[in-house]
Amino acid sequence: KTTSKPPPLPSPLRFSKFYQSNMRILVTGGAGFIGSHLVDKLMENEKNEVIVADNYFTGSKDNLRKWIGHPRFELIRHDVTQPLLVEVDQIYHLACPASPIFYKYNPVKTIKTNVIGTLNMLGLAKRVGARILLTSTSEVYGDPLIHPQPETYWGVRSCYDEGKRVAETLMFDYHRQHGIEIRIARIFNTYGPRMNIDDGRVVSNFIAQALRGEPLTVQKPGTQTRSFCYVSDMVDGLIRLMEGEHTGPINIGNPGEFTMVELAETVKELIKPDVEINMVENTPDDPRQRKPDITKAKELLGWEPKVKLRDGLPLMEEDFRLRLGISKE
Ligand code: NAD
Ligand code: UDP
Ligand code: UDP
Repeated sequence: KTTSKPPPLPSPLRFSKFYQSNMRILVTGGAGFIGSHLVDKLMENEKNEVIVADNYFTGSKDNLRKWIGHPRFELIRHDVTQPLLVEVDQIYHLACPASPIFYKYNPVKTIKTNVIGTLNMLGLAKRVGARILLTSTSEVYGDPLIHPQPETYWGVRSCYDEGKRVAETLMFDYHRQHGIEIRIARIFNTYGPRMNIDDGRVVSNFIAQALRGEPLTVQKPGTQTRSFCYVSDMVDGLIRLMEGEHTGPINIGNPGEFTMVELAETVKELIKPDVEINMVENTPDDPRQRKPDITKAKELLGWEPKVKLRDGLPLMEEDFRLRLGISKE
């Protein structure tokens, strides 16, 4: 018996995966600080086509200006809390304000972005069979020093921390229930060129203050610690995670740990030796210490950061000088 039925036409997605060698990559939040550096790196590979979806809440077209009009690049003004229909092979899902002053500004929106936004990107990944990477945060670990637990936690960071926890949960549930390929990066404090100048984060604050000749504002007690990862190392880690075999969660960060007083002294020494350091009031719920254990990233991704704080700060200084219009004396 013979059948005269023609074989089914390949779906647009299958067509792209098997007949075309280009990789189509969606970057949500690609107009932001980390996202725009990620786009720069992805665009270096001529086989990549990059689509950015961003609502410009904390990001800006300016961060992507060198790609606007490029044939392998597309920029869409889009809010991830709304459904998105595109055909892609990979999704880097970064959309979410990262700085406390921005994510606390409209906490309900922050939760919607994390929950509904992540759900939409997972629905998209499911429909087109794409692999999706979420940029989660070290904040999911909370402040491990407070033990036993009193009732004094204010919850002002919850829209971000809890939002990311739900986003991680959704990722794993889509993975288990629908077989979506997922990757979860837990990002620790990252710094570098293109950070918002007035976003209130410590590295951007100290560098802008030093350049403007204003006192560096160390929030009390000043002994709290953070570990700062330069953005090129971060982007390298994210791409290795996406391309590798492991779902994560995997910590991506630089284990070099500094107190805020030490950071202020380093910025002072490198940028403006005569600047003052002022101790000021802190905000509620400030985590007292933070440093990533990167054993997993080293073993599973062969990744570790290369740029030391002392080498990264001058690169950021250069960018801030240009944007603030303050030249070196
Ligand atoms: P950023 O604020 O510079 O970038 C976030 C981008 O997302 C911006 O371009 C913003 O306009 C966009 N965005 C926000 N809400 C959106 C929405 N509803 N729809 C579409 N776009 C939206 O922040 P970043 O530092 O580049 O952070 C990127 C990601 O990394 C975030 O998911 C953040 O939570 C995570 N992260 C960053 C750090 C850090 O130190 N920078 C630390 C931990 C986690
Ligand atoms: N979604 C999207 N783009 C797509 C497919 C889905 O934005 O290409 C959204 C969709 O609107 C839904 C969410 O993703 O709100 C979850 O989709 P899923 O198919 O998992 O769930 P359902 O639509 O059945 O609720
Ligand atoms: N911080 C500071 N001076 C500033 C801004 C922040 O001393 O002008 C401190 C803050 O109290 C916290 C640390 O720097 O302990 C990191 O704060 P940031 O907002 O940069 O990041 P996150 O708290 O999200 O890690």
